[in-house]
Amino acid sequence: MQTTQHKNTLEFAREQDQNDPLKIYRNQFHIPKDKNGEEQVYLCGNSLGLQPKLVKDYIQQELEDWSNLGVEGHTEAKNPWMPYHEFLTEKMAKIVGAKPSEVVMMNTLSVNLHLMMVSFYQPTSERFKIIIESDAFPSDKYAVESQLKFHGYDPKDALILWKPREGEELCHFEDLEKIMETEGDQVALLLIGSTNYYTGQSFPLKKITELGHRHGAKVGFDLAHGAGNIQPNLHKTGPDFAVWCSYKYLNSGPGSVGGCFVHERHANNKDLKRFTGWWGHNKQTRFNMRHEFDAIPGAEGWQLSNPPILSLAAIRASLAIFEEAGFKNIRAKSVKITNYLEYLLKEIEGDQIEIITPQNPEERGCQLSIKVKNANKALFDKLMAAGVIADWREPNVIRVAPAPLYNSFEDVYKMVERLKALL
Ligand SMILES: *Cc1c(COP(=O)(O)O)cnc(C)c1O
Repeated sequence: MQTTQHKNTLEFAREQDQNDPLKIYRNQFHIPKDKNGEEQVYLCGNSLGLQPKLVKDYIQQELEDWSNLGVEGHTEAKNPWMPYHEFLTEKMAKIVGAKPSEVVMMNTLSVNLHLMMVSFYQPTSERFKIIIESDAFPSDKYAVESQLKFHGYDPKDALILWKPREGEELCHFEDLEKIMETEGDQVALLLIGSTNYYTGQSFPLKKITELGHRHGAKVGFDLAHGAGNIQPNLHKTGPDFAVWCSYKYLNSGPGSVGGCFVHERHANNKDLKRFTGWWGHNKQTRFNMRHEFDAIPGAEGWQLSNPPILSLAAIRASLAIFEEAGFKNIRAKSVKITNYLEYLLKEIEGDQIEIITPQNPEERGCQLSIKVKNANKALFDKLMAAGVIADWREPNVIRVAPAPLYNSFEDVYKMVERLKALL
């Protein structure tokens, strides 16, 4: 649905910004500046989201309560630390389309992925294989391989890659179906990135979930590049679990605490194997410390430790912005601004630029992965020197992601102008 007639002019970009219902939010973020004090064109929110100005106040509050109250802050702080993670749940749940009881902020992505595999990768001699997409983020591959080895399997036999076809970059759902037709009864877990970090391709989550479940496999999603970017509608989509980080599109600071979703259907299954810690234990008796482990129903039952409040404070600040702006509106702008970026890139003459990300907005978030023919990293370095913060992946891909909360149409216009000047 392309209703706007795009124009390749700075005036048009500025006009789009004027009419942008989310325009007030850019000013609520710290935009990095170059040596001359000029705002940079920051298109790297897929790697590290920018800092909301609110974060400082939210963290300051906890520092003050800690200095004034010491241990009493657990119950007496303005925002008591004992239930602090609960303050994030409802807002986070909306962003990923889950019920609050299905979501918890805890640990970091890779840790949560391992915890989820402890529960949802239960191999048997007949059913022990795991499927991931072939260009999965390296950390996910390491995590999966180590789980396979932990259970005594060789990744050579037990890890199946869902690959793009020869000479292509994107994965076809039909190819995943074929794998499941031939090997489905041996597959214990399908673990797919909702949005691929390299190509920007968003996968059909509902179809993948139904496919996996139809063949008796468990299904998990890595939303590292999905959370805050696309709407995965986790409850309805129905995977068994999902994990994500909060420092990319969720703007919650480097290394900040991650998220975890466990579908409602597992909420009360106390027989499910899991690694446990006191924070997952029944809140009524948590401090008695003499009881048998009694899991909190829902995702909270997977918590291990009392969480880092300073990190949760940053997440809380960021989620306040998401809540106010409304994720539907954020996604609507994301589609518009990414379409505009795509249009401008296609206006570049010659055939030096190829966009490998799918064209259909339903099959992508805001990231476009651009392949530049005959280019090497020198081009990217010059682009950075020209004040465009993007991301380079060997051998020749530049990833750019206009984040709808703080990027402007003017940002996108400037980026393409500066790239053109270098080609
Ligand atoms: C960013 C990212 C990670 C990072 O994992 P951490 O545990 O937060 O360091 C993992 N997987 C994917 C797909 C990512 O994009």
